[in-house]
Amino acid sequence: MSEQTVPKPIPEADDDSRPFFEGAMEGRLMLMKCGKCGTVRLPSRQHCDNCLSSEYAWVQSSGRGSIRTFGIMHQRYHPAFVPELPYNLAIVELEEGPRLVTNIVGASNDALEVGMPVVVDFEQHEDVAIPKFRPA
Ligand SMILES: [Zn+2]
Repeated sequence: MSEQTVPKPIPEADDDSRPFFEGAMEGRLMLMKCGKCGTVRLPSRQHCDNCLSSEYAWVQSSGRGSIRTFGIMHQRYHPAFVPELPYNLAIVELEEGPRLVTNIVGASNDALEVGMPVVVDFEQHEDVAIPKFRPA
């Protein structure tokens, strides 16, 4: 198998993260909201970052946020990503508070700026959709 044909690793849902991945397949970014204090967190964390409660409910994110920080990857860390070098890796801070490691699509790497408003845009695969973000 040549480097060009190595498939990208894609996440697999488990029982705890299934609502997140099912939502993604339907174009909804799902987060966990603490049942005690209302703090919103990324899946699949069992306890609230603020009050340590394990009570939660799934809520839909607005999908809006901003670039907190980003980097441009020039090195090959996995053969499946060689065709995309150089690619960006960003931390997006959602309106609801959680910060998500993702990629920015629909903009050149040179155009990225810290603080840039972005909106979620799902990358569809056969069995999974991965949340990425594009300029809002
Ligand atoms: Zn809490």
